[in-house]
Amino acid sequence: MRTRRMVGTMDDETPQPRWRFTLPWAILDVFADGPVPAALQPTAAVLAHLEYRFRPALLRPHRWPQCAYTAVWPANRPTPEPAEMLEEPSLQELEGVVLAEVHLLTCDVCTARFQAVYPDLGIPFFGRHLAAHELISGCTICGSDFASSRIQPLALLPTP
Ligand SMILES: [Zn+2]
Repeated sequence: MRTRRMVGTMDDETPQPRWRFTLPWAILDVFADGPVPAALQPTAAVLAHLEYRFRPALLRPHRWPQCAYTAVWPANRPTPEPAEMLEEPSLQELEGVVLAEVHLLTCDVCTARFQAVYPDLGIPFFGRHLAAHELISGCTICGSDFASSRIQPLALLPTP
């Protein structure tokens, strides 16, 4: 059964991001613990099982509709602690950060199903940061490699 987070007010006010990054072509809103906009709730529910460096984020390009993503900080970098980052941080804080999407995935070998955090490499600026990350290569259930399982995400969770 799903529990619902109680909030102080019952209005429709959109939850505010913890950090707002201003890129030349878009705004990236990154959320810390706490409520997220409706568009990010499915993403946030999955990320609750992962390390803090996986944060729900809303990319709001100037010329395209907004899109729900996961902002992923590299494992070897300090995660963005709320107390350490300013409200309007510089783009340096996004060094190595990739934007990823949560996909349902099935292993081609054993048919195990996963929720997988997959990098979106088509996004300007973020797309070139993948080298800062280590991908999970292969199925964690049957041990098949990427070539046969077709699984190579940033994070992998068994489906509930
Ligand atoms: Zn498998």
